[in-house]
Amino acid sequence: MTGRTHDLAAFTTLSYIIVTHPVHSVSLATGLVAITANLVGGIAPDIDQPTAPLWKNLPIGGLFGRVFDKLLGGHRFLSHSLIGAAIFGFGFHYILILLTPSFPHLNMNIIWWAFIIGYFSHLVMDTITREGVPWLLPLPYRFGFPPYKDFRVQTGSWVERLVVFPILMIVCGYIFYTHYHQFLILIHQIAQ
Ligand SMILES: [Zn+2]
Repeated sequence: MTGRTHDLAAFTTLSYIIVTHPVHSVSLATGLVAITANLVGGIAPDIDQPTAPLWKNLPIGGLFGRVFDKLLGGHRFLSHSLIGAAIFGFGFHYILILLTPSFPHLNMNIIWWAFIIGYFSHLVMDTITREGVPWLLPLPYRFGFPPYKDFRVQTGSWVERLVVFPILMIVCGYIFYTHYHQFLILIHQIAQ
């Protein structure tokens, strides 16, 4: 899937989790950082792809992308597995611990969860693509849904742009529409 689809999937999943597991007393700063962490988590697994959106935006990103590509074993390898998710989860947790003294008012717990939700949404979305996802590395098997490859989505194809992306938009809109009051209460809390 492309970065744009991953970002929307991450945000949609985060919105769903927020309405099903309401959080209390979120500050504006925590909310904004959490949404950013969610979007970064949503594209983080593609760190192993030299052409990833993450690298494209950096001046010498192409070089870093190729280095990470080698380190992580090529595209759709370590960072696209449960072990990879655990490594990234611990790594991000460690970074947040280091940042806590400088930003004592941020709720790092919420920010960490937002990142992890984005990360898992990425793995789930890649599971419906042709290449599949090696969820259970080191077991050398790529899982995909539906099991028959030809029924899966090709990254960047018209199916992704004209079917998957619009469906995500509709789901996201539906979540906001059906939980409008919950979001209003949350925004009210944040504004206080
Ligand atoms: Zn990916």
